[in-house]
Amino acid sequence: MLTGTNDTIAAISTRPGEAAIGIIKISGNDSITVADKIFIANNKRKIKNQDTYTLIYGNIVDYNKNIIDEVVISIMKKPRSYTRENIVEINCHGGIAPTTKILELLIESGVRIAEPGEFTKRAFINGRIDLTQAEAVIDIINSKTEKSLMIAAKNLKGDLKKEIFRIKDEILEIMAQLEASIDFIEEDINLIPYKKLLNNIELIQKSMELLIADERKGDIIKNGVKVAIVGKPNVGKSSILNLLSRKEKAIVTEIPGTTRDAIEEILYIEGIPLMLIDTAGIRDTKDKIEKIGVEKSIKCIEEAEIVLIVLDGSKEFEKLDNGIIERLEKKKVICCINKKDIKQKLDIDNIKMHFPVENIIRISALKGYGAKKLENKIKEIVVEDDIDIENKVIINIRQREILKKANKSLISASEAIMNKLSEEFPSADLKIAYDLLGEITGDTTRDDLLNKIFENFCIGK
Ligand code: GDP
Repeated sequence: MLTGTNDTIAAISTRPGEAAIGIIKISGNDSITVADKIFIANNKRKIKNQDTYTLIYGNIVDYNKNIIDEVVISIMKKPRSYTRENIVEINCHGGIAPTTKILELLIESGVRIAEPGEFTKRAFINGRIDLTQAEAVIDIINSKTEKSLMIAAKNLKGDLKKEIFRIKDEILEIMAQLEASIDFIEEDINLIPYKKLLNNIELIQKSMELLIADERKGDIIKNGVKVAIVGKPNVGKSSILNLLSRKEKAIVTEIPGTTRDAIEEILYIEGIPLMLIDTAGIRDTKDKIEKIGVEKSIKCIEEAEIVLIVLDGSKEFEKLDNGIIERLEKKKVICCINKKDIKQKLDIDNIKMHFPVENIIRISALKGYGAKKLENKIKEIVVEDDIDIENKVIINIRQREILKKANKSLISASEAIMNKLSEEFPSADLKIAYDLLGEITGDTTRDDLLNKIFENFCIGK
């Protein structure tokens, strides 16, 4: 476990650059005394004589009593502060010069510059928040959509922490039951204690599986869904990308194979980010640069959840590369027959004979016909089963991996019981699961892992 440090730390908590205000946060035992050294209140009162949760107005001064900036200071005395230590926040004018000068004065007065995430780390070490809440802080800061903000805010409130503690308690309960029913091991597997124990383990597994399943939804909301736009050169892939993004980003040309790099465009559909990747024209080619493009396209399909296959409706069906067809099997596919505005030669039955696709739409990227239909189709596929996050606790990848491991231990605990192994075997498995869950909340997380998590924070948080 990380242990607390007694020194006083400070950092500029606002983004560097010109801004209306800048905030310098100080935390630790000496934060009030140190701030008093460089601050003169308008009413001449010392910060140390101020009540907690109050503001005080005055000037920051250097050692020659030159005024550096006019500020408002907020005071949060321990233990009711973000870090559970004494916190002083100096609200000065934004901008590089005032904020850095004030930080320099603080350092000269004996405080240390905080490491990234150190304030939140202290909140964690001092027991105000658990690790799920600390991670939620990063998620709130990184949130790009309202939905991802909602997920993070729920975890900051402690919803995930509560659920993990509930599961841990259930495991403890089973461990106690197991101990109480040592004798049954010798007896018939159909006896009540057996069934009850196995049943209880299964219930825990179900709760964990639910969390694991929802991680996928959380991931979609946070990181979006990748949509690869795939097809032969000149069928209109770039035009479709432009149509969907309504920007002239991809270069539309009449020379086949000119879209060489995958272009990413982010759209938001009902708060869910959609990454559109326009892949280079896929075809057999000896051209070196284009070949790299083709490989890239295949990679894009592999990465994408949704593949938009574009075909030219004004031409006979051109068979897609087998490598591509194989890769479509596990994907959600929408087939766009483009160039609906001109005479059509492409037969839908012919497409279905070559690869399985349920969603076929005729559009004209040039004229914009069918654009709304295409958007709705993508929307329908992305939000397939409604992402009702209001009632869900969403976990992150780290937490999912731990849950998966814990689930394995529960499986082996069940097997041990079924195989009538001596009580210490299932107990040991249950203990492993219990400790693993402690890694989610931070009770049993190794120091190096904890440090790694906090390193992802920004300075001043
Ligand atoms: P890509 O190589 O698949 O990316 O295709 P582009 O988007 O660069 O388009 C190739 C050519 O087809 C360009 O000349 C476009 O103007 C034309 N094009 C694209 N969509 C349509 C369409 O819906 N109708 C017609 N008539 N031409 C189109």
